[in-house]
Amino acid sequence: MPSIAVLPGDGIGKEVINEGLKILNFMGEKYNLNLKFEEFEVGAERYLKSGELIPDFLLKRLETFDAIYLGAVGDPRVPAGILEHGILLKLRFHFDQYVNLRPIKLLNDRFSPLKKKGVNEINFTVIRENTEGLYAGIGGILKKDTQDEVAIQEMISTRKGVERIIRYAFEFAKNNKGKLTLCDKSNVLTYSHGLWLRVFEELKKEYPDVQTDHYYVDAITMKMVRNPEIFDVIVTCNMFGDIITDLGAEIQGGMGLAASGNINPNSVSMFEPVHGSAPDIAGKGIANPIAAILAAAMILEYFGRKDLAEKVEGAIKTSIDENLLSQDMGGNLSTSEVGDEIVKILKRG
Ligand code: ATP
Ligand code: MG
Repeated sequence: MPSIAVLPGDGIGKEVINEGLKILNFMGEKYNLNLKFEEFEVGAERYLKSGELIPDFLLKRLETFDAIYLGAVGDPRVPAGILEHGILLKLRFHFDQYVNLRPIKLLNDRFSPLKKKGVNEINFTVIRENTEGLYAGIGGILKKDTQDEVAIQEMISTRKGVERIIRYAFEFAKNNKGKLTLCDKSNVLTYSHGLWLRVFEELKKEYPDVQTDHYYVDAITMKMVRNPEIFDVIVTCNMFGDIITDLGAEIQGGMGLAASGNINPNSVSMFEPVHGSAPDIAGKGIANPIAAILAAAMILEYFGRKDLAEKVEGAIKTSIDENLLSQDMGGNLSTSEVGDEIVKILKRG
């Protein structure tokens, strides 16, 4: 009986997670999934009340779940970075979620700013390394605040870290019958991305059935705009993944449609919409819940029910075709109305 820890978080996080739960509850009942949910309060309220971010006893509780479903954290009353570091990054590191999985899929032709691209032409997954690289926080500043100041930020790549993410990507490409693209800058970052390229070449031999290619990050941004149809699965480092997944979110139709998974196949994985708590629209009931609902679909797929994830995605597509849209997409439905309509479509199908 798969169990899901629900962390709605702050701002629109709470609002959109409600809608994702509507869909998960409906699918759970209809297909006898026996899903168990338990909600936990983390985020600005807890922090402002008690000074707690994510206490150890809560981390221990979360270890007992199969997946975490997270809204967003962030609040204008709390200095920037405290909640993000203390909660989001804490969870990613505690569970060593080394894979950041970002499907880039255009659900409707009219949403992509790439006017000539259709739904079948933008459909790939970016697999971003989530624990190392330029995000390792190693470096320092010499002669601070002088004319001779030098700031150093180290890019850390370990063979273990590089190998596990590239292996995950090969497995993912194999299971989805897709081509695997390595995105790096090994021509300039000869030490760290040289390691990426060597490991990629080594693992290629273990996966003779997986077709591969290789792009430098500058070239891949051009290809993602001009020929996104050539990609199935892209594996890349932490920093480049950060950048190309935002580009990906935009070509798929914007932040309201982008979902992600933070995965460790041997621990607890966490699924979330890519967008933040959006204080500017929080409490108004107008946030677009689609990204959160797609994150819920990723949970179903993670539990081995790709078929049901596809049903949810299909229902979202239908809701878009029928113009049942929130304001950011040019419609006039509230957050909960969008969720209700998607449930109605699922009932129909
Ligand atoms: P972060 O600090 O993580 O960047 P944020 O709260 O600034 O988070 P973003 O995800 O950067 O939020 O979103 C920027 C803006 O885009 C929001 O302020 C909001 O106006 C809009 N936006 C984001 N997500 C949604 C959504 N689901 N529905 C409607 N508008 C959204
Ligand atoms: Mg922002």
